[in-house]
Amino acid sequence: MAFRLCQLSARLIRHPILLSNVRASSAAHGPPVNQHEGKTGVPTASMPDGLGHAVGLERQELLMKLSGNEDPFEMKVTKIPADNKRTNPITVYCMEPSRMVGCVCEEDALYINWMMIHRGEKRRCECGYWFNGVAYDEGGSSHH
Ligand SMILES: [Zn+2]
Repeated sequence: MAFRLCQLSARLIRHPILLSNVRASSAAHGPPVNQHEGKTGVPTASMPDGLGHAVGLERQELLMKLSGNEDPFEMKVTKIPADNKRTNPITVYCMEPSRMVGCVCEEDALYINWMMIHRGEKRRCECGYWFNGVAYDEGGSSHH
């Protein structure tokens, strides 16, 4: 018996990989399990692109740009029309309850007049231009 144990252990030392195979296929622990299942790459798969890595607002911005909206957060400069008045204000879409807006009051002004625009409120800049805070999802789209 001792001789058989020595023979077995000598065989296990010579072939150490056999031990894990025996453990994996023992009936007490269920059927054999491939420890690397799902961890190895598929030959056709590659690294995710920027969209695949992006999360949260960055992902939302990329998706909106893919759908054709080049200015998803309304960051582009808006030229104020000549007929701007209290009853025809510039629409400012707000994702938050309020939004910071900069007004270049005159064409050759060297500074920007910053002010907070609140949702549902009209506000007049010192220069006389009117702005109206609107929730971003009002009207279904931010395009105007
Ligand atoms: Zn102004």
